[in-house]
Amino acid sequence: MNDGTKTMGLLQSQELYEYILETSVYPRQPQPLKELWDATANHPLAFLATAPDAGQHIAMLLKLVNAKKTIEIGVFTGYSLLLTALSIPDDGKIVAIDISRKSYEIGLPIIQKAGVEHKIDFIESQALPVLDKFLEDKENEGSFDFAFVDADRVNFLNYHERLMKLVKVKGLIVYDNTLWGGTVALPDPSLAPESRRPDWQRTIEFNKALAADPRIEISQAALGDGITICRRIC
Ligand code: SAH
Repeated sequence: MNDGTKTMGLLQSQELYEYILETSVYPRQPQPLKELWDATANHPLAFLATAPDAGQHIAMLLKLVNAKKTIEIGVFTGYSLLLTALSIPDDGKIVAIDISRKSYEIGLPIIQKAGVEHKIDFIESQALPVLDKFLEDKENEGSFDFAFVDADRVNFLNYHERLMKLVKVKGLIVYDNTLWGGTVALPDPSLAPESRRPDWQRTIEFNKALAADPRIEISQAALGDGITICRRIC
């Protein structure tokens, strides 16, 4: 989601956020990603897509850890999925889970044109049962290099527990929207824009849980709507 108080982002300065996008994000955006962004810009839920500055950072992380086998929870029209597909090697694999194949199919022609569809195993389902099914096979434990979570916040802690088993030690789990438009710093949710009120408490609790989790190292990055990078250490 990139509606961190619409285009202001977390920097609370529209000019500075636009400066970052214009000088370093858009000029380096791979052509297919730009095409997908433009093609879905008029979708009524376009604001759900992962923000381009956060996406650029995620692409860098995928390359830094040489991610080959990844999981993505929350595909929507495929912006973060496509940037992942473009960032892993040709024989890399992404298990992409979303409750809606329909939205995935909006971006699919662009993913196909980019020649990266073969890396994607799309599963139309609630994510939790899929993760649990994977965990029934011991071979899947510690087999993923990277996971990106951008879905229903009510399950973030449930996803975290499963991903801590599926992602290998030294692997990364990245969560989107962890600064919730900057509202996590407010003393009371009634001060937040209405759209941010429902998951306000949940986001704060989730951030606390990550900060207290001794199994990971974390980096809270104020990019897009806030992403938290977790590195599994044991
Ligand atoms: N990262 C995406 C945006 C994801 S929006 C992008 O860059 O475009 C959140 C997505 O989570 C939606 O597509 C929604 O269908 C999906 N979602 C919501 N609840 C889910 C669940 N329980 N399991 C799997 N996907 C879910």
